[in-house]
Amino acid sequence: MDASSSPARPKMPPRLPRSLPSSHSIASTFSPGSSTPGSWTVSPWNRDTPDTSPPSSDAGSPKLQAKQADDSGRISPVEGSLDGQPRFGVVRSICFVGAGFVGGPTAAVIAYHNPQIQVNVVDLNEERIKSWNSAHLPIHEDGLLKVVRTARDGALDKTLVLPGLPRAIELKQRQPNLVFSTRVVDAIEEADIIFICVNTPTKTHGIGAGSMADVSAIESATRTVAKHAKEGAIIVEKSTVPCGTAQMIQDILRYYRPDVEFEVLSNPEFLAEGTAVENLMHPDRILIGSAQTLAGLRAAAVVKDVYGAWVPAARIVTVNTFSSELAKLVANTMLAQRISSVNAVSAMCEELGLGADVEDVSLAIGKDARLGSKFLQAGVGFGGSCFEKDILNLAYLARELHLDVVADYWLAVLRMNEDQRRRYARNVVRELNGSLRGKKIAILGFAFKDGTNDTRNSIAVHVIKDLAMEMPREIAIFDPGCASAEIREEVEKAGLTASQLERIKILTNWRDCVQEASAVCILTQWKQFRGRKLGSATSSNKKTRKLAADWATSCVADKADISEMDILALEELVRDKSSATTGDDPLERLAPLAPCPEECSHCRIGSAEAHDQEPVDWAEVAGMMQEPRWVFDGRNVVNRLELQSLGFRVRGIGKGF
Ligand code: NAD
Repeated sequence: MDASSSPARPKMPPRLPRSLPSSHSIASTFSPGSSTPGSWTVSPWNRDTPDTSPPSSDAGSPKLQAKQADDSGRISPVEGSLDGQPRFGVVRSICFVGAGFVGGPTAAVIAYHNPQIQVNVVDLNEERIKSWNSAHLPIHEDGLLKVVRTARDGALDKTLVLPGLPRAIELKQRQPNLVFSTRVVDAIEEADIIFICVNTPTKTHGIGAGSMADVSAIESATRTVAKHAKEGAIIVEKSTVPCGTAQMIQDILRYYRPDVEFEVLSNPEFLAEGTAVENLMHPDRILIGSAQTLAGLRAAAVVKDVYGAWVPAARIVTVNTFSSELAKLVANTMLAQRISSVNAVSAMCEELGLGADVEDVSLAIGKDARLGSKFLQAGVGFGGSCFEKDILNLAYLARELHLDVVADYWLAVLRMNEDQRRRYARNVVRELNGSLRGKKIAILGFAFKDGTNDTRNSIAVHVIKDLAMEMPREIAIFDPGCASAEIREEVEKAGLTASQLERIKILTNWRDCVQEASAVCILTQWKQFRGRKLGSATSSNKKTRKLAADWATSCVADKADISEMDILALEELVRDKSSATTGDDPLERLAPLAPCPEECSHCRIGSAEAHDQEPVDWAEVAGMMQEPRWVFDGRNVVNRLELQSLGFRVRGIGKGF
C-alpha cells in the first residue's frame, strides 16, 4: 500500500469539546454551527498509523458526538443549489477495496450485470487475489464460480437453438470486465466509484476490547483512497460499521484533500453466507444512505443506477447516511434476536418435558403473518463473523449514549446464544455419564452454517473447547465444505492446552470421523447429514425453473439486446429441458478456464482432501460407533425415529420427550 505520496498537509483545526463522555479517541466531531448540514470539523488524524490493516488494532469506532442540526436529515431547496456541487459523469470504472466474503462476490455480481463497467477488486492479501484469479476461488458459494468466470474471463459468441424458442438466439461475445489484483493505488486512481469492503472485527485489545468495532482497516483503506481517488469519485462504505463512520471517512478525505468535495455513501451489504449469490442476484432490498444534499442525492442516484442494471427500482431504498449505517446493525441484531428467542423456547420445551417440541411451536407461530416463518429454527446457536460483532457494536453505541437498559436488552441476545451452546455441551457430557474420559466424540460440521467454507467464530469451536476440557480420548471433526487447514487454524486459536489439542483430529470423510465414536455431535446443518437421498431438485426449485423457462420462452425470443438476466432464464430453460445438464455453464458459452500451473497448491490439496460429499449412511454409522451411540443433533436435521430404529439414542434441540 502506498504511503509515500501524501500531499501537503493542511493545518489541523482544534478539537471541539466532546458532548458525550468518551473513553477512546474521537474520529469525528460534529460542529453544530457549521453551515452545511451534516458537516463535521476535521479532527487531527494520527499520521503515524501505518497503511496496513491488521485483523484488529487499537483503532476504535468513530464516535457520534451530537445530533445533526437538522434532525430530519433533509435539506431545503436553497441548500441544494447546484453551485459548486460536483456532477457525476458516466460510470466507467468501479473499484472494490477488500476481496473478502463481501467484496469478491458483490464485485462479481455488479460486474456480471454491468458488462460496460470495468470492475477492479483489490486486496493486500496476495494469496487471496491469486485464488480469485484461479479456478479455486477463496470463497465457496453456490453459483459464484460461474458469475466470476463470466465477468472475469468473458464469454464466446454463441448461436442457441433451443426447443421451445421460435428462433435461434444470438449471444454476443462478452469481454472480460472483472479484474482481481493487488494494485490498490492504480485501481483507486481510475475509479468513478470506490466501494470499501474491508474487515471491521471487534477490537481484541485496548479500550473497548471485546465490544467496540475496530475500524482501523477502514481508516487505512480510506487514507489510500484519499490520496489517490480522482476528483468526483464517489466513496461507498460497504463494510458494516459503527454509526458515524461515513463521517469519519469524509473527515479523512477532507484532511488529505481539502480542496476536493467527495461524496461518501453508505451501502451496507445484507447477503448471507451460504446463499450469497442468490441474495445478490435477488436482493430483498439495496440500501443506499447519502447526505441529503443535492450532491449526496446525485451520488446516490449514480450508485442506484449501477444496481438498477438488475435490481428493480422499488427494491432500492435511499435514506440518509446515519439511518443506513444504523439499519445494518439493527437488521443483524434483530435476526439474531429471533434465533435467541426461539432458542429460549427450545430450552423451555426441553425442561418442560411433557412432549413439547420447539419445531411444532415454530410452525405454529410462523404461520402468523405478523411473525413469518423465517429464522425460527432452533439450534445450538448462531456463529459467524457478523451477528456477534454487530450486536456488540450496537450495544456499545447504546452504552455510549447512556442507554444502559437498551444496551443490556441487545446484549441479552448474545447471553442467550452463549447459554444455548453451553447447555448443549453440558448435555453431551451429562448423557455420557458425566465424563468423556476414554471416549471419542465425532463432530459433524464445523462451518458456522451450511453452504459456506467460512469457519470464523463458528459455534463448533466453542462446543469443541467445552468438550475438550473433559479430556476425551479423541475429538474427530469432519466438515464437507471446509479446508482442514482452516479448521485447524480456528481450533488453534481457541486457547486449548497442548494436551487438549493433541486429541483433536480433523478428517476428510464422515466414516473415519464416526468410527469408534461414542457420540456424534451435529453442529452444522449440511444436508449430507440428514442421510436422506439427495441431489434431486426440490419442488420449489422446479417451480422457479419452470417460471424462468416460461419467461425465457415468452420474452427472450423477441429481444434484440439480451441481458445476463435473460441468459440466466435461458440457462434454466436448458436445465428444464434436459435433466442431464447440471453444470455451471449449460449454454457452453463461457471462455474456457485457464489450466492451473502444475505446482498449483489448491489442486494438490484438493486431490489430497477430496472432501466427502456423500450423504451420511446412518445404518452404516450404527455399525461403526460404540455404545451408547448417541447423536446430539444440534441442528435438528436427522429423522429421530429412523435413527432410533437403528439403535441410536437421539437428542435434538427443544424436544421435550
Ligand atoms: P473479510 O475479512 O473476508 O475481507 C476483508 C478483506 O479486506 C480482506 O481480504 C483483507 O485483506 C482486505 N483488506 C483489509 N484492509 C485492506 C486495505 N487497506 N486495502 C485492501 N484490502 C484490505 O471480510 P468480509 O467478511 O468480506 O467482511 C467485510 C465487511 O463486510 C465487514 O465489515 C463485515 O462485517 C461486512 N459484512 C460481512 C458479511 C459476511 O457475511 N461476511 C455480510 C455483510 C456484511
